[in-house]
Amino acid sequence: MSSASSASSDAAFSERYFRKGLGLRQEVRGQVASEYRSDWAQAFRDSGHTLGFQRADGASTTFQLAREWGFCYGVERSVDYAYETLHRFPDRRIVLTGEIIHNPRVNNRLRDLGIRFLGDEDVPDESAITAEDVVLLPAFGVATAQFDALKQSGAILVDTTCGSVLNVWKNVERYARDGLTSLVHGKANHEETRATVSRAGLYPDAHSLVVLDMDEARLVVDYILGRGDRAAFLERFAPPKSSPGFDPDLHLERIGVANQTTMLSSESLAIARAVGEALQQRYGDADQPSRFRSFDTICSATQDRQDALAELIRQPLDVLLVIGGYNSSNTGHLAEMADGVVPAYHITGPECLVDAARILHKPIHQKDEVQTVGWLKTDGDLRVGLTAGASTPDVMVGAVLERLLELRGHAEPYQPGV
Ligand code: SF4
Repeated sequence: MSSASSASSDAAFSERYFRKGLGLRQEVRGQVASEYRSDWAQAFRDSGHTLGFQRADGASTTFQLAREWGFCYGVERSVDYAYETLHRFPDRRIVLTGEIIHNPRVNNRLRDLGIRFLGDEDVPDESAITAEDVVLLPAFGVATAQFDALKQSGAILVDTTCGSVLNVWKNVERYARDGLTSLVHGKANHEETRATVSRAGLYPDAHSLVVLDMDEARLVVDYILGRGDRAAFLERFAPPKSSPGFDPDLHLERIGVANQTTMLSSESLAIARAVGEALQQRYGDADQPSRFRSFDTICSATQDRQDALAELIRQPLDVLLVIGGYNSSNTGHLAEMADGVVPAYHITGPECLVDAARILHKPIHQKDEVQTVGWLKTDGDLRVGLTAGASTPDVMVGAVLERLLELRGHAEPYQPGV
C-alpha cells in the first residue's frame, strides 16, 4: 500500500474507531444508575461504612463495608460505553468480543438489551463480523491478532480497554523493544493477560512467559540459577504460558516483569524481587540494570480494594462476604487475602445465601462452587464484613445485605440505627 493510501485508510479507520466513548454519558446515566446502583451504597458512605440493625429481641447485625469496594473506574467506563453504544446505534447488531467484565449480572443484562457475544450462533468468530456491525471491546482489551481482524472487518469499534491495562501494554512493548523477555504475573487464559502478552509479539524475536504465582516463579528462578530441568520446564510453561519458540536457555537472560492488573500485589512484588535477585546472582551486578526491569502494574483500583480489605479484616468480624463473579480475578484475590484470618465466603450474590444454615460459595484455589452448612450465627449479635470486587455492581451489595437481614430474622422495612 502506498503511504498516501495507507494514510487515507488510517483516517477512514479513525472515523469508525471510538476509544473515548460516544459523548452520550449524560443520556445513559439514569439507566445505568437504575440498573446497577443501590441506595444502600449511599447509606454506607454517609455512615462511615458501618450500618447496624436491631432485631425485635435486641440482638444486632452490624455490617462493616470495606472503605473501597465495587465498580472501579475502568469498569464504570466500560459499562457506560456499552450503554452509550446501545443508545447511539439502536438499529445495528452490536457484538461484544467476550464478557465485558467478569460479572454475570452485567453480561446477562447486556444480552437482554440485545447485545450479541462473539461465539453466539450468528457470530461464531471474527469472520462473521461485517461492516454493518458495531463491536465492543471489553475493559481487559483484546489480543493484537483479534484487533487486526476486527479492524479489517470494516465494523465500527467501540474500545473500552481500561487505561490501566494500556499502561501494562506500554511496559511490555518497551521490554520487547529493548530485547527483554516479558515475565507476566497473571493467569495465562485471562483475557487481559492474553492481550498483554500479544503486545510482546509485535516485536520480532521478543518473548513472554506467564507465571501464575510464587510457586511457578520459583521454577523460573531455579532455571535461571541452573537448577531447572529443561523438558519439565517446557512442559509446565507450554503455550499459552509462553510465547511460540520460547527457549528457557536463551530467553531467561534478560527479563522485564509486569503483572495482570488484578493480581495480589504483595505476591507480584515478591515475584519481581525473586527474579531480580536470581539474575543478579547468576550474572553479577555489572549489567543488572539492562538485564532486569520491573514495573508494578497492579492498577490503583485493585490496590485500593486490597488495602481497604486488609484494614477491614484487622477488625473483629464474625464472617466476611466477598461478592463478585467466580471468574473475577480481583474478587478471588480479595477472598484469598481473608483466608485464615476470618471465616470468609466468596459469593456471587444474594442467591448464594440459601438459608440460615446453607451458603453456596467458591473456596479459594478451587474452580467449583460448594455448599457449606452452618455458616450463619442466628443468635445474639453479629458483625459482618462486606466487600465486593471491581466488577460487582452496588446493587448486589444491597441485595446481599437485605438477604442476610432476612435470614437473621430482622423485620422489614430494614432501618439502620444501632
Ligand atoms: S480492575 Fe483496574 S485495570 Fe481492571 S478495569 Fe478496573 S481499573 Fe481497569
